[in-house]
Amino acid sequence: MTLSIKSADQLKELPNESELNFGTLFSDHMFNMDYNPEKGWHNPRIEPYHAFSMDPSTMVLHYGQSIFEGLKAFKTPSGGVNLFRPRENFKRFNRSARKLCIPELDEGFALEGLVELLKLEKRWVPGVPGTSLYIRPTIIATDPFLGVRASYTYRFFIILSPVGAYYKEGFNPVKIWVTDKHVRAVRGGMGEVKTAGNYAASLYAGEEAHHNGYTQVLWLDGVELKYIEEVGSMNIFFVIDNELVTPSLSGSILSGITRDTVIRLAKKWDLPVTERRIAIDELVDHYEAGRLQEAFGSGTAAVISPVGEIKYKDKNMAVGDGSVGPLAKRFFDAITDIQYGRAEDPENWVLPLETA
Ligand SMILES: *Cc1c(COP(=O)(O)O)cnc(C)c1O
Repeated sequence: MTLSIKSADQLKELPNESELNFGTLFSDHMFNMDYNPEKGWHNPRIEPYHAFSMDPSTMVLHYGQSIFEGLKAFKTPSGGVNLFRPRENFKRFNRSARKLCIPELDEGFALEGLVELLKLEKRWVPGVPGTSLYIRPTIIATDPFLGVRASYTYRFFIILSPVGAYYKEGFNPVKIWVTDKHVRAVRGGMGEVKTAGNYAASLYAGEEAHHNGYTQVLWLDGVELKYIEEVGSMNIFFVIDNELVTPSLSGSILSGITRDTVIRLAKKWDLPVTERRIAIDELVDHYEAGRLQEAFGSGTAAVISPVGEIKYKDKNMAVGDGSVGPLAKRFFDAITDIQYGRAEDPENWVLPLETA
């Protein structure tokens, strides 16, 4: 398959890098590719960024058959561009595709498409500390049809968005709200895949948390409302009695690449790290006995998000002393140093655009 490239006649003005937010601006070009049963995935192309026109009956608008990924490109001190573990994103994209009955992509070819797009859009990778170019690969069902079945046709696209530093006001702990009413996902359902409906399902509890003065929701399992799953759209880690503990991948938890990176680093640093079920009541016991030292979320957007307070029923649990815990800080620094090319990369996590 050959990739065609049609450049934009006019390029946009670049934004002020110190005023970037999240997800509001998009670069000059996008990647598109189509699927139908006769041709399979075909017509890969880079084109000017543009709006889609679609029939109001397009299946994705009605039944949510869509998947996405999220990763970032980072500017290095020498002006190069790094991707961080991008093959893991395309592997997970295909796992999501299988679960949603979407035809799989050739992972290598999808990554090549992204690399070509980034080569064209290099000027959109911001250089102010903490900024990056967010990458959003997406697949949507495109049959114009109102019956419930898997679509026969699909569109795969990649768009790019320059984003600001996640911690503009400093690397401060957030307050999280444990919901014992709403659930995000159940075992056997869609929790382990990045599909649109999961985020729609999370909105109501998120608003409830905000209304009560909390930033994120800590989700419990969908069957017993007993075991800790994730925080917002991040995985969660606790430091209990000097041991790093994170919920095991139960089928309803998204398998985060940042989560995997934290676990691998912990093993390398000889820190005890355990993936297991953690009941919210167990966490409360550790807190009351003074054993809960740290809590933090992990995900591409924030990398590490320290948690300063956990609210469960009538309990307000203050984690640590209110400042960022030493392990949260250590993981954040180690991961971002590798991503931005400031540190050695012994595991070959980084894919520099120059060598891709
Ligand atoms: C994307 C996502 C994560 C984090 O995954 P990363 O690969 O680390 O970015 C965690 N939970 C949910 C629900 C997610 O959508």
